[in-house]
Amino acid sequence: MATAPTVLIMGPPGAGKGTQAAHLVEEYGLRHLATGDLLRTAVADGTPLGVEAKRFMDAGDLVPDDVIIGLIRELVADLPDDSGILLDGFPRTDAQATALDEMLARLERSVDVVLDIAVPNDVLVRRLSGRWICRTCQTPYNVDTKPPRVPGVCDLDGGELYQRDDDTADSVRNRLEVYVRQTAPVADHYAAQGTLVRVDGAQDFPVVRAAIDAAMQPVTT
Ligand code: AMP
Repeated sequence: MATAPTVLIMGPPGAGKGTQAAHLVEEYGLRHLATGDLLRTAVADGTPLGVEAKRFMDAGDLVPDDVIIGLIRELVADLPDDSGILLDGFPRTDAQATALDEMLARLERSVDVVLDIAVPNDVLVRRLSGRWICRTCQTPYNVDTKPPRVPGVCDLDGGELYQRDDDTADSVRNRLEVYVRQTAPVADHYAAQGTLVRVDGAQDFPVVRAAIDAAMQPVTT
């Protein structure tokens, strides 16, 4: 097995990557590198990266490859050898996938498994427009399918729940189109490497989690 597995989680916005990522981190001790979360922190902190990224993010477009590749390159280079990684939201283009292969090869690592979560578009739109997220721990809720016990408050840490700036109807539509056009083809890159596992993300959370655990077995035992 890979003692420090490198795992990718892919899927359109609203596929449940955040929820499943939390499970993967807890169950397998993976270090979670989520480019969307990193960019939102940069935006909130008003860093140069955040200022540059915000206009792309608000429109639902991808931040340019060189910016995002530079960000991940620094983080990956600093990882301890024995640290398993969960990349979430990266790579999103063929250029990013190629750059990632090169970065990992330099560290004598490679991608061990790619979890590709598929969900039909109408389900995604419904999930995204009802989505609220904890400002503190990023746990996602949904007004229809997974409401918090107290409206506006995280069940886990009492943090304030908020709606993302890019969960508006126009931005959601664009993000789904961008996903189909630019990110879905990245799956072919990993299918060719034999690491891609497709997961039906329209099923209930525990069923999706079980499928993910089955896909993780070869790289964790
Ligand atoms: P997410 O939270 O993963 O849905 O990402 C939110 C937004 O951040 C995306 O709509 C993009 O604007 C930007 N973003 C996140 N990851 C990437 C990436 N790998 N490449 C380009 N843009 C990204």
